Amino acid sequence: MGKSLAMTRIAIIGSGIAGLFSALKLANSGHHITIITKQRVKDSSTNWAQGGIAGILDKTNRKGKEAHIRDTLESGDGLCNKAIVREVIERAADCINELVSIGVNFERGNDGEFKLAKEGGHSERRILHAKDATGREIERALIDAAKQHPNITLMRNTLAIDLIQREHGDTSKGVCGIWCFNQDNNEVITLAADSVIIATGGVGQLWAKTTNPNVATGDGIAMAYRCGASVKDMAFIQFHPTALAIENGRPFLITEALRGEGGVILDQGGLNRWEKDCEQALTKSLELPKPDNYSFTIEFSKLGSMATRDIVARAIDQNLKETGQKSVYLVTSHLNKEMLRNSFPNMQQHLNRYGLTLGADHLPISPAAHYIVGGLHVDHFGRPKMANTSDVIPNLYAIGEVACTGMHGANRLASNSLLEAVVFADNAAKHIIDNPPRQVNHELPDWRSDGLDTLNEHAPILNDLTMLKDTMSTEVGIVRNYQRLNRAYRRIKLLEEEIAMIWKSSKPSREIVELRNLIQVANLVIRDAIDRDENRGLHFNTDLV
Ligand SMILES: Cc1cc2nc3c(=O)[nH]c(=O)nc-3n(C[C@H](O)[C@H](O)[C@H](O)COP(=O)(O)OP(=O)(O)OC[C@H]3O[C@@H](n4cnc5c(N)ncnc54)[C@H](O)[C@@H]3O)c2cc1C
Repeated sequence: MGKSLAMTRIAIIGSGIAGLFSALKLANSGHHITIITKQRVKDSSTNWAQGGIAGILDKTNRKGKEAHIRDTLESGDGLCNKAIVREVIERAADCINELVSIGVNFERGNDGEFKLAKEGGHSERRILHAKDATGREIERALIDAAKQHPNITLMRNTLAIDLIQREHGDTSKGVCGIWCFNQDNNEVITLAADSVIIATGGVGQLWAKTTNPNVATGDGIAMAYRCGASVKDMAFIQFHPTALAIENGRPFLITEALRGEGGVILDQGGLNRWEKDCEQALTKSLELPKPDNYSFTIEFSKLGSMATRDIVARAIDQNLKETGQKSVYLVTSHLNKEMLRNSFPNMQQHLNRYGLTLGADHLPISPAAHYIVGGLHVDHFGRPKMANTSDVIPNLYAIGEVACTGMHGANRLASNSLLEAVVFADNAAKHIIDNPPRQVNHELPDWRSDGLDTLNEHAPILNDLTMLKDTMSTEVGIVRNYQRLNRAYRRIKLLEEEIAMIWKSSKPSREIVELRNLIQVANLVIRDAIDRDENRGLHFNTDLV
C-alpha cells in the first residue's frame, strides 16, 4: 500500500550537501524529485567547505566515538541535545560510507586508509578530507550522481520565493508547493509538490565580512517563518576566527586544519618578540623557539590557537579593538613547507593572487561571519515545528545549515556541520519514504502579480542592503551589548517598513526577495540576542558579564 503511493513529487530547495544527498536517497526509492537552486548548481557553502567532515568510521571504536561526543558537547557549552549528538555521531560511519559509495574521494594514505585531520576543539584526528577542498569534492560527486539520475530534475537560476500552504493561512495543514522566480525569463512559476524540503543553507550575507557565498541569504529560514514555522537559537552565529584580511579581497577562509598542522595566531607584538628570539637563537646556534608561547590566544584558553572558534574569535576581536590593528597573523613559517604545499594546494592557489606563500609569509587574518547554529526548529526527522506549539508542519522538512537540530548547542564544533547535514538529509528522506505524503491533486493559486510594477530602480535596495550589513557588523557582531542590539533592532524595523512597501507594490526580483529575507532573519537574530539572559557559546553580551 505504502509503496504504491510512493511515487510522489518532492521539491527540494537547494543543491548543497543536504539537498543533493536527500534527493539521491529519495530518487533511488522511486520518488520524483525537483531540485530548485538559485544560481549555478554548485554554488553553495558546501562547495566552499575546506577542512572536512568529522566522523569515526570504525563502528567498533567506542572510545573514539565517545571522544567525538565529548568534544561536541564541550564545544556546545551545555546546550547540545545530547540524544541528537549521540545519534549523529553513531550514524557518521554509515552516512560517510554512503558518500564514498556515491563517489566522494576522501584522501587516503599509501596504506589505503583514510587520512585524518584535526581542527580546533577536536581532541583527536577524526576529520576526513579531500586536500583542503573537501566540499568541492563532495559537491562534485553528488552533482554528478544527481545529473545522471532519471528521477531528478535540476532547475538552476530558480529562486524560491515563498511556500504555498495546502490551506491558505492554516499552517497546521502543511504545504503543497513553492512559488519560484525564474531568473532566466523573470517569471514566477508555481511548483506543486507533495512534500517540500528546505535545504537553503546559511545567512552569512547578513554581515559585511563573511566566508559564505552570495547565495547564503537566509531565504529558507525567512520563508518557513512566514509560513508559521518556529526558529531557535538564532543568536548563535559563528564567526570564523581566521578569514584572510586583505583590502578589497573576499574574506577567504583559512581552514582550521592549518592550525591543526601547527599554524599559530600571533599579533604584531607577539610576532616581533618571536622573530627577535628566533634571531637570537640562531646567533647562538640554539633550537628555534616555537611560536605557540608568543600567542595572545593563550590568555583566553590553554589550548591557545587551537581553542574552539568562539574563544579564538573573541580573543582576536578583543585584540584588534585594543591594538587598533585591522588584522592579526597566522604564522606557518616554522612548519614543513612541503607538507603545507601538499596539504593545502587550494589555499596556496588563492594566496598566489596576493603574492603570499604558505610556510613563508605571515597571513593577515580577522574573524568573519561563517555559520548559523540556530535556524528552523526541527524534530528528529527534520520537520519544522509550528510556532508556539510542539506540532510539526505537515509535508515540510528543513535540513542542513538552515535547521536547528540541537546538535551544535551554543557553538558548532568544526567539521560537524557537513556530518549533521548528511545525517539529517538521510533522516528526512527515510521519513518521507516510510510515510509517503498525501498527493496534491488540486490546482494551486498563481503568484499575485496583477497591477504590480516592475522594479526598475535597484539602487535604493542596494543602499538598504549596505545599511543592513553595516548595522549587523557594527552592532550584532562577536561582542554585543544591549544598547547596540536595541539600536540595531530599531534600524532593522525601519528597513523592514521600507522594504514591505516596495514588496507589496512590485514584481519580484532577486534583489528584493533576498533583501526582504535578510531583514526578516536579522530581526530574528537580534530579537533572540536581546532575549538571552546569559552568555553561552557564541553569544557574548558584555552587559551580562
Ligand atoms: C568557506 C566555508 C568553509 C566551510 N568548511 C566546512 C568544513 O570544513 N566542514 C564542515 O563541516 N562545514 C564547513 N562549512 C559549513 C558547511 O559547508 C555548511 O554548513 C554546509 O555545507 C551547509 O550545507 P547545506 O546543504 O545546508 O547548504 P549549502 O551548501 O549552503 O547549500 C544551500 C543551497 O541552497 C540554495 N538556495 C538558497 N536559497 C535559495 C532559494 N531561495 N531558492 C533556491 N535555492 C536557494 C543555494 O543556492 C545552495 O544551492 C564551511 C562553510 C564555508 C562557507
